[in-house]
Amino acid sequence: MPAEIIDGKQIAGRVRIGVARDVEAFAQEFGGARPGLATILVGDDPGSAIYVAGKQKACKEVGMQGFNFPLAADTPRADVVELIERLNVDPDVSGILLQLPVPEPLDGVELTGMIDPLKDVDGLTPISAGLLAQGREGLRPCTPQGVMTLIDAAGAQLEGAEAVVIGRSNLFGKPMAQLLLGANATVTMCHSRTRDLAAVCRRADVLVAAVGRARMVKADWVKPGATVIDVGMNRTEDGLAGDVDLHGVKEVARAITPVPGGVGPMTIAFLLRNTLQAARMQRSGVAVG
Ligand code: NAP
Repeated sequence: MPAEIIDGKQIAGRVRIGVARDVEAFAQEFGGARPGLATILVGDDPGSAIYVAGKQKACKEVGMQGFNFPLAADTPRADVVELIERLNVDPDVSGILLQLPVPEPLDGVELTGMIDPLKDVDGLTPISAGLLAQGREGLRPCTPQGVMTLIDAAGAQLEGAEAVVIGRSNLFGKPMAQLLLGANATVTMCHSRTRDLAAVCRRADVLVAAVGRARMVKADWVKPGATVIDVGMNRTEDGLAGDVDLHGVKEVARAITPVPGGVGPMTIAFLLRNTLQAARMQRSGVAVG
């Protein structure tokens, strides 16, 4: 029987409805105050501009405030730093997102690290990464959180299961592995030097692919009955393709995410959830780090 196709669009829609409801509760609790997301977009990359516009639109749809700061590609480092520092202390701003990548010579990792961890809605500062590694409260990266929700929605058990993550980026692979470990899976991380990748993948009850290579994961890499999550977004001649060969793998897996319409919609949904969580953390006076 072909795999269940996990409908990320629908599941993300449910997350957004929950956030909108919780934003109203927040506003009632705090005299009409609403969580606010500040986005910083440096340069004129059209893809990044579309992402940021989508994030701002999503904010408005759930009743949050959105503030966008478009900066010219040649903005000096000092000006970006000054903006981040200003937003760090602005009480209307609950979350700050620096859209990556930033144009050279700016250093996206360095600048992201200057965001107050209580406002780090991308979960990418060293403090947020450290809190996740230690299993302590903090803001988690959006896409891995979205993947956890999809795995849960697909009914896959993680406790004691073999989970394999292909990709070890700071943006996705490492936090993904940490969240799976936190859910008591036995986690293997793979990368470009992994020997016999197909054999490692075949062990997986839950296989998460985040490589950036179109349709790399084939049907014979997948254990029958596995849950397969495809994070890849690759532009090909015939449109957007994931890292998994959906056509072949759906005949072997129990459940699988499509591209598009799988993981993608979850990222913005969890950015909204993180912004609300950040606003609550700031109100409660919790200290992180
Ligand atoms: P990245 O930083 O380029 O990392 C890619 C990872 O894949 C690296 O760890 C690399 O290994 C590994 N890799 C490359 N070739 C490999 C191979 N032949 N065999 C095994 N591993 C290999 O990418 P990323 O930022 O994690 O993103 C990965 C993909 O997910 C991209 O397609 C991206 O667009 C997508 N993505 C989507 C979302 C979303 O919202 N849907 C969010 C984040 C990312 P090394 O470390 O050894 O180089």
